[in-house]
Amino acid sequence: MTTYAQVCENGHILNTSPNPEYIRDDDFCQDCGAEGLIECSECDSQKIIASQQNVTTEEVTRNDLDLFCRSCGAAFPWVGSDGMMIREGVFIDDDYTNGPFDRQTIEEINRCYRVGANSAVLVLYRKLLENVIIEILRGHYGTDSIEKFYNEDHSQFHRFSVLISEFDDSRVDLGQYSGSLTNALIQDIWDFKGNGDAMAHSIEHEMQDEELEEMSSEATHVANVLLQTRNEVQRTN
Ligand SMILES: [Zn+2]
Ligand SMILES: [Zn+2]
Repeated sequence: MTTYAQVCENGHILNTSPNPEYIRDDDFCQDCGAEGLIECSECDSQKIIASQQNVTTEEVTRNDLDLFCRSCGAAFPWVGSDGMMIREGVFIDDDYTNGPFDRQTIEEINRCYRVGANSAVLVLYRKLLENVIIEILRGHYGTDSIEKFYNEDHSQFHRFSVLISEFDDSRVDLGQYSGSLTNALIQDIWDFKGNGDAMAHSIEHEMQDEELEEMSSEATHVANVLLQTRNEVQRTN
């Protein structure tokens, strides 16, 4: 059963109802004062849909809203003038990017963050950490100790879980490059790996906006420690 919504122009969910005829019609949003809409204002024929299921107002988030009218294709006002931006800012505020992979990955992460592609943020962030850890291990140990980061039997880099364990075990050797390779850092890396895995593999798990926004400063910290360590490894070796 479909749930219909009244939404303000900025994408705040005001009311929902399974019956579009009975949806409460507030004139203005209590959060931001913008006008409340129950249908596409371009074609006046498409009711705004919050979910294909019967859900409560509290269960609906901005991410559930259509960005474009199903009837006429017009962009809804909450899409914003800046493409599909739904939030300001960045997920990772980095100071140590070096090279096109870093830049491209972090730019993609932050673009996904701004358009509310929450799962993609965590999948890409996981990829960033994995890659930087490979670079650190490869930079320090080189091909003489290739088994630290590469599985020669399978001709591929180790799985991320093996890489984290190797990185953890190598902290005595790597301490010369950074004083920030702490237990807490390792735990954070495991947590972010877990989140990235859940987003990539589980159809159940959904990342809420606030949950992701709260991870941003920790994610920035972890990324910057690893990137800075990687830069130091590459500078020295
Ligand atoms: Zn509003
Ligand atoms: Zn329309």
